[in-house]
Parts: sequence; C-alpha cells; structure tokens
Amino acid sequence: MSINALIVESSEDNRTMLANMLTGIGVNCVVCETGQEALEGDGGRQYDFIIVSRHLEDIGAELFLVRFREHHYIDDALTIMLTSEPVKDIYYEANKAGFKLVFNKKDFPTIERFLLGAVNNRTIDLKARILYVDAAISVADCISTLLRSYHAMVTQVADVTSAIKVFQQQEFDLIITDYYLSDDETGDDLISYVRDYDDFDKAQVPILVVSEESNQSKRTSYLRNGANDYIIKPYDNDELIARASNLIAHKKLFEQFRKQQQELLTLAMSDQLTGLYNRRSLFDIAPKYISDAVRHKYPLSLLVIDIDHFKIVNDSYGHAKGDAVLKKTGEVMQASCRNGDFVARFGGEEFVVLLTHCDQSDAMMKAELLRKSIEESRPDDIVVTVSIGVAELAPGDDLDSLFSKADLAAYKAKDLGRNRVEQYVSEEAKQA
Ligand code: GH3
Ligand code: MG
Ligand code: MG
Repeated sequence: MSINALIVESSEDNRTMLANMLTGIGVNCVVCETGQEALEGDGGRQYDFIIVSRHLEDIGAELFLVRFREHHYIDDALTIMLTSEPVKDIYYEANKAGFKLVFNKKDFPTIERFLLGAVNNRTIDLKARILYVDAAISVADCISTLLRSYHAMVTQVADVTSAIKVFQQQEFDLIITDYYLSDDETGDDLISYVRDYDDFDKAQVPILVVSEESNQSKRTSYLRNGANDYIIKPYDNDELIARASNLIAHKKLFEQFRKQQQELLTLAMSDQLTGLYNRRSLFDIAPKYISDAVRHKYPLSLLVIDIDHFKIVNDSYGHAKGDAVLKKTGEVMQASCRNGDFVARFGGEEFVVLLTHCDQSDAMMKAELLRKSIEESRPDDIVVTVSIGVAELAPGDDLDSLFSKADLAAYKAKDLGRNRVEQYVSEEAKQA
C-alpha cells in the first residue's frame, strides 16, 4: 500500500526538510512551491497527507484547501497546516477551513514525530484471522468492514454459542468480543471457554474486549479473567485498529519464538548426518521410556547395533562414501521401527534402538529382521552388515545397566563371527 503526501510550501528549506523526512520513511511526495502549482497538478491523485504552509506566495492556505477540494477527494487525507504564528491563535480558523491539524513550522521535531506515528498507523496491515463477536449486528457490520479494509479475514458472530463453535473449528489470530452480549451472556463466558481449551496454542489466542463499562475495577476484571486488552465505547476507529494490530503482532512474535525454540531443540537432539536422535538425547529421553515401562508394567528392550568392519568401508571407498553408508543404514533402521520406538546414533558406527512393549524374544525377532534389512540394503552396492546385542529391561535396571547388557551381547555377536544377533544371558541363567 503506497502512501502519498502533498507538500505546498514556499520556503525551500522547509520543503526539502519535509520531503526528505517523508521520503525516508517510504512516503511518495509531490512537492509544490505555490498554490497554483498544486491546484494544477494531477486531479486523480489521492493523498494521505496534505501539508500546506499558511502563507503561500499566491494564496492563503484556507482558500487553497477550498479550491483544492473542488477537484480532489480529500476526506480521507490528513490535512495539516504549517504556520509561523502561535498555533492557538489560528487553530479555530484553520479547523473551520478543513485543516485537521496545525503545527508551528519551527517545531520540526514535533512535526516529524507526529508524521512518523501517522505513517506507521497508515501502514498497519491486519493480515490476520479475526473472530468478532457482537450482538448489535449493524455496529458489527461496520466494524467488520473496517477490519477488512485493513486486510483482516473476519468471522462475525452474534453470540457465545456460535463463537465457541467457530473457535473449535478454525484457527484465529485475535478474538474481539463485545462484553455485554445478551441478558445472560457476557464476554467472560467466551474468555473462560477459550482459556480453558485443551489445545494449548489455541487457548493462547489474544482477546480484546469492547465495553461501555464506566467502572474502572470492573474493566480491570476483564484483564484478570484472561482478556489481553480492552477498549471503551465510544472509541476511535484508529484506536481499535492500533490495539488489534498490537495484539496480533505480539501473537505472531510469540509464535515465531516458539517455532525457533522447537527448531533449536530438534537440532540439539538430532544427529546431523543421519537425522536420527543423537547420543545426548538418548540420555535425555531413555530414562522416561524406562520409567514408563516400569510404571505401566510393560516390557522394554534395547538393541546395540554396530556396523561390521566399517573401517574397511572407509579405507576402501573413502570417508564420504562411509558417511553415505551410515546415512542409508540409519534410514533402514528408522524405516524398520515403529513410531513409538526410539532410534539413535550413539557414536561413529554404533546405534541404539529402544523397543517399547517388546520382550527379549520379540526383540530378538525384530533385531534379526533389522539385521537382514541392513544386509539387503547394499547402499551403492556396498555390502553392509551389523552385529546386534539384545537385552530386556529387568527389575532394578537403569539405562546404564540395560545398555551394558546389550553391549555385552553385541561383543558376543562380534566374537561369534559378526553379522548376527545375540542376546544377553544373565549369570543365573547361564548356571541354570
Ligand atoms: P568391528 O566390526 O569390530 O566393529 O570393526 P569396525 O571397523 O567397524 O570398528 P572400529 O571401531 O575399528 O572402527 C570404526 C570406524 O568407524 C573407524 C572410524 O573412522 C569410522 N567412523 C566413525 N565415525 C564415522 C563417521 O562419522 N563417518 C565415517 N565415514 N566413518 C566413521
Ligand atoms: Mg564400533
Ligand atoms: Mg564397527
């Protein structure tokens, strides 16, 4: 959305200063030295700001505006008069002539601050999904139109039941609700429902309450009950838009923050080469798998998987090819496991798999299938085999002891010739 300003000012210094400042913040400026020049300009052009010096060489600002209005639509423009006289002496006349604001032209910092804020307001874009709840349909239609003029996608409803229904079905970036909705319904009913909603992200949606409540403590209670902001009727449209825009901006920032946090967490927990969980995440996550299995009394087994003679792969085909083999082997493991299973690259060419709801004999079968899949995968026609050790969680085991048992079994598989699966056998079982 482009913003246009007309500057009509006889002083070259002032013209340049204003034009430079506005151009610097992205405003298109038409700059004229005389009233005549401006009046003869493009009649079809619409301006957001019309800034006129009170004493032009050829015409007074008041008369200029009357003439200008004859050929231009200026109702939506912010008309500003600049003067060297005290503002209070001429404000009334200027206002009568159609100027909304008068500034002392020597007070450039104030003019600058004001224009910066005004340009910011005009560039507000509410590209967001808004649920708007208001029982007064004619008012609601106007507000919806206003919000849509800022590119908002508005869903308008008249009562709490309908609001809840659409809230359940759709995602919103902002809820705007009138406080008094009917004899027995208020905005609080909707706020409580939203804040108690099961889905954490949806329950966080910002809520702006619109109210005619004159009692300050009652208004404060909206915030305590879970609203993020309120606005009191009668309000200025610009204020509504500014508040809505703030809430939406906060929501978007918060979402961005959560997304980045999630990405960082995923990055910290995954192995860069294979995309599997890394060693660190095994120590973070496995204890929870173990305590869940103990508490809910279901079996859990752990596999230690080590690629056979991997050094030879590196020596024969190069390190890069070795990496590709590791990546492919990781993919085969992930594909062979269920969603709830946990597959991690423990280090170099060693992997660990946690199998939930799986006792030792099931785990042996699973490991054997895995061994075969890897042997058959032949990445880049290279034969890759693994030795696998299997152990089931026994009473008193923690991650360390369970891992040691499976590791011992993996050593046995190596000793017995590699490319095979061995299970942990306890000392008691050996003696029996
Ligand atoms: P074994 O059957 O006894 O397990 O023999 P091995 O050669 O697989 O075992 P060893 O522990 O002697 O060697 C492991 C090799 O794995 C040595 C190391 O260079 C290689 N390796 C470890 N991490 C990586 C990696 O990230 N990429 C590549 N390409 N090679 C790696
Ligand atoms: Mg090894
Ligand atoms: Mg190895």
